[in-house]
Amino acid sequence: MTSLDAKLLTREILLGFWKVHILHHAAAHPIIGQWVLTELRRHGYDISPGTLYPLLKRLERNGWLRSEEAVGGSNHRRRYYHLTTRGATVMEALRETIVELHHEVIDEAVAHAPRKPFRLVGPIAPRAAKKPAARRRRRRKP
Ligand SMILES: [Zn+2]
Repeated sequence: MTSLDAKLLTREILLGFWKVHILHHAAAHPIIGQWVLTELRRHGYDISPGTLYPLLKRLERNGWLRSEEAVGGSNHRRRYYHLTTRGATVMEALRETIVELHHEVIDEAVAHAPRKPFRLVGPIAPRAAKKPAARRRRRRKP
């Protein structure tokens, strides 16, 4: 795709995806900016600290994350972000939306893809229809 405007795509769509990633991971454990950068790169998103930190701030301002400074393993003070109760509620709602979106965008696209013609393995013999045995009336002998 040569006409792909990466900046436009980022601004319009991907920023939202990154926020979902951040909230999702913050639900599992407190996160720091550097870890998020590495994680998002692992997913193929080349995101700079200059993009990430304002994003984290915004999530915090929305009340979905809260942060605190603490001394990390290498004796550096780091800012740790935690998911708040409100953030967890948002994440819950997002999960349903993502399932719905996945169903429509992925599952249905697969379902409507051209299929191979259906072939029977072998001829199927028609079942011999069993006629119900005619009930005979017994004649009573006098
Ligand atoms: Zn992730």
